[in-house]
Amino acid sequence: MNLSCNDGESGDCGLRWNNRFASLGPAFFTRQLPQPLPAPYWVATNQALARELDLNADWLGSEAALHAFSGNTVLPGSEPLASVYSGHQFGVWAGQLGDGRALLLGELQTPQGPMELQLKGSGLTPYSRMGDGRAVLRSSIREFLCSEAMHALGIPTTRALCITGSPEPVRRESIETAAVVTRVAPSFIRFGHFEHFAARGQLDELRQLADYVIERHYPECLEGAGFDGNRYAALLQAVSERTAALVAQWQAVGFCHGVLNTDNMSILGLTIDYGPFQFLDAFDPDHICNHSDHQGRYAFKQQPPVVYWNLYRLGQALQPLIGDPAIAMVALESFKALFPAEFMARMRAKLGLTTAHDGDDTLIDSLLHLMADNAVDYPIFWRRLTHAVASGDFEPVRDLFADRAGWDRWLLSFKELPALTGRALDANLMLKNNPRYVLRNHLGEQAIRAAQEGNYSEVHALQLLLERPFDEHPGFEAHAGFPPDWARHISISCSS
Ligand code: AMP
Ligand code: MG
Repeated sequence: MNLSCNDGESGDCGLRWNNRFASLGPAFFTRQLPQPLPAPYWVATNQALARELDLNADWLGSEAALHAFSGNTVLPGSEPLASVYSGHQFGVWAGQLGDGRALLLGELQTPQGPMELQLKGSGLTPYSRMGDGRAVLRSSIREFLCSEAMHALGIPTTRALCITGSPEPVRRESIETAAVVTRVAPSFIRFGHFEHFAARGQLDELRQLADYVIERHYPECLEGAGFDGNRYAALLQAVSERTAALVAQWQAVGFCHGVLNTDNMSILGLTIDYGPFQFLDAFDPDHICNHSDHQGRYAFKQQPPVVYWNLYRLGQALQPLIGDPAIAMVALESFKALFPAEFMARMRAKLGLTTAHDGDDTLIDSLLHLMADNAVDYPIFWRRLTHAVASGDFEPVRDLFADRAGWDRWLLSFKELPALTGRALDANLMLKNNPRYVLRNHLGEQAIRAAQEGNYSEVHALQLLLERPFDEHPGFEAHAGFPPDWARHISISCSS
């Protein structure tokens, strides 16, 4: 069904909205209209996602869509709402949070299944606390580009359909301008939604929420298989497994989330809430990408344990439904088994190893140590190694290491693998697992600076590159190169 529509007049493009989240009832949300933004304009649209959703490409780009996705009109049938959640921020219980600047527009039937659309930056809600309900152009561009980049890398994530901007001033460290990102996901439910009802002792709502999530998103947990019929323990295990696979992908690709609070953890195991994230330039396990994170709680290497900590909080929230704490612990244990297995699988693929073998972990561990000691650029290393395996010329990789002897020793053990373990190195597998293009901070920054001057061409160029990150894209060599010196001084905080 293509929602063909020429009726810029009525402007709804025949979208048929449903809002099953709203069927949970008023304890879960507040109905809220978006606050209009003056003189909205398009910053970027995501035609590839529009096609996946079977949305009309001409409509996405029309005046009607511009106003709808800026929050100036409400599409017929959509009943926007802000959901309530709580959460732990930086390890401390923060109490009630909620959609302080986001609104769920509703749900569309798409070829990808039911998908929710959400505006981020659409104005005040009852959960805005001290905030202004807005998002700035800078952070909206980062979220838009990164969520699509992650998707193209095969990493589960919320998606982004478009960004609209407005001259409306927004005060952050300086005065910036407002923007709205339209996000798309099967659900925006977070760990914090469960913590909210558990903390308040609202056990009926807690159960209702858990049943809703199981029925819609984890039907395999309905019978509580593996847990004597305890569906809530099965849910906790399934979420732990998806989350383990997610964080393994982050670690393998060199992605730092930056704010892994429990309210930024998707119950579907998606990457959500792109704030001060960063793809590593030089490999540094201790790297902290969030300048507001003074203790390094969310440093790169802390992500797996901190994500487990978050799962533990989810386990505590589900405890009243699960019953026996020992059962919840069993469900959580799956993270500890699955994370290393998933991480090793990803790293093996990056090394071109098609099968597992004893000693792979030592090989990978020693490589990562060597890369950290030599501050080797992470994406460039992997891409050069890929070409080296294909060509047999390892000199360009060697050039990345100050400690040549250390590299030579590692390379010797790597080259011995095929003979020792009977595994050929698969350069094609490496090409599909070592992206040439990632959204490094400085690339985002260049696109933002131009956009703040009214030039969106760099946003669009990055969109195209990051949609196909494993391709060569001749003419864009600089986008695959080393970061400039000034990149080290980019400061990304929670301010967005
Ligand atoms: P974050 O750190 O972006 O995950 O946000 C944490 C909480 O603060 C969430 O409840 C957000 O909705 C809320 N929040 C963040 N920025 C704003 C803002 N500018 N206005 C209102 N609420 C906000
Ligand atoms: Mg958040």
